Amino acid sequence: MSRSYYIRTFGCQMNEHDSGRAAGMLETLGYRRAPDESTADLVLLNTCAVRENADNRLYGTLGHLKGLKDERRREGHDLTIVVGGCLAQKDGATVAEKAPWVDVVYGTHNLADLPQLLAQADSAAIPVVELIEQLETFPSALPAKRSVRHHAWVSIAVGCNNSCTFCIVPSLRGPERSRRIGEIVAEVRSLVADDVVEVTLLGQNVNSYGRDLAGASQFADLLRELGRVEGLERVRFTSPHPRDFSDEVLHAMAETPNVCHHLHLPLQSGSDRVLRLMRRSYRSRRYLALIDKTRALMPDAALTTDIIVGFPGETDEDFQATLDVVAQVGFDQAFTFQYSPRPGTPAAALVDEFVPAEVVRERYGRLETLTRAQSLAGHQRLLGTTQELLVESPSKTDPSRWSGRTRGNHLVHFPAPAVGDGVAPVFAPGDLVSVEVTDATANYALASAATVVRRTAAGRAAGEAMSRGETHGMPADAAPTPGAAGLQLPVLAAPARR
Ligand code: SF4
Repeated sequence: MSRSYYIRTFGCQMNEHDSGRAAGMLETLGYRRAPDESTADLVLLNTCAVRENADNRLYGTLGHLKGLKDERRREGHDLTIVVGGCLAQKDGATVAEKAPWVDVVYGTHNLADLPQLLAQADSAAIPVVELIEQLETFPSALPAKRSVRHHAWVSIAVGCNNSCTFCIVPSLRGPERSRRIGEIVAEVRSLVADDVVEVTLLGQNVNSYGRDLAGASQFADLLRELGRVEGLERVRFTSPHPRDFSDEVLHAMAETPNVCHHLHLPLQSGSDRVLRLMRRSYRSRRYLALIDKTRALMPDAALTTDIIVGFPGETDEDFQATLDVVAQVGFDQAFTFQYSPRPGTPAAALVDEFVPAEVVRERYGRLETLTRAQSLAGHQRLLGTTQELLVESPSKTDPSRWSGRTRGNHLVHFPAPAVGDGVAPVFAPGDLVSVEVTDATANYALASAATVVRRTAAGRAAGEAMSRGETHGMPADAAPTPGAAGLQLPVLAAPARR
């Protein structure tokens, strides 16, 4: 009987992407996906070092898995435990010391070695740890298994050449390395041939994509090339960088029909003094000018951002500058974070400058009040309009509602489909439906029943799977969440509250 696996992914979309590759390799080895870790023969934790208390959480999870492993052994079976990703890259040997029941530890640069490491672990009495300093095989070259049929993460570059003082990513993922345009387009074409209708391009700084290959950013060229891929309905990307964002990219977005008019542009702070301390090499004027140009070229563009509150040394005036920029932009959604130090980053050493926790909390509350009001206004702007949604999933809690996303990535709930041929629904995850928006909250919009349905191959396959009682794919409220730095998830609404 084949062995089964379960992957738990922490952190950002790059980890989601890498987990898809790990799943692909495991399936090539004959493993099949288990519904949860309690029944799996192999559990892989794809870790994140960006989140606060990431290590405590990892060791908590590993403690739980040890109990599961002991139980299995008593029953005469085994449980293979694998730890990969950013925290493994940072703390590799420590993981093996603190949790010697782990079987394999690998880092951010050697995902491709997973099959060999598992083979070694079979005959090893201690954890097999392998961490290398440089990427040898681009993860995109590895086999992949998607969590949903209609959407794929596509990595266009890994690593980052910036040195934002709050961020650990460059030391874990290394310098930026881009893939060639032809290779990316070929991957996207084969994804579309395999029913994908939406791709999200991933890079720590998509606006510098291609600089290491061509001496200048090729991101606009890539968007235009993807515009020529027939059958590809939606192209998204994350994350851009305000310093490197060129007019050329804005024009490519505006002129390429399948590129969604959604810009997730991390602000981090509205204070030029704090931006300098963060080593973010743009200023608020540049940021606001980019927003103005975006709106001039794409009046329908949805704008989202990330903001850190209470960076070391942030004064009341600095925070007010952030509020002023936020008020001026009017974001559809802002992911706001209270600063917390990440060991190993320059900002973590500025202990004397740390802002007292109660001050950070108070500022954070004020910012949240403002951004929630803006999110509500963003959804209200959709009232009465007809929106095309990419159908995501039925609600977990209310079977009469389904969820989908607009091209601007707003989350919209709408009535469930009727059953078509007596078994399959008339639309399913991966199909495109047109709805009229009838109500708005800060977290999502509500809409009337779908009036037009554009079926896709992914939707038909999902509908058939549902009629057989199988899973339809990723529920809307199981989407990965954004982190404090690095890649962010471009979702406009908080996880669905239905
Ligand atoms: S925040 Fe983004 S741009 Fe800055 S160092 Fe981290 S990954 Fe690079």
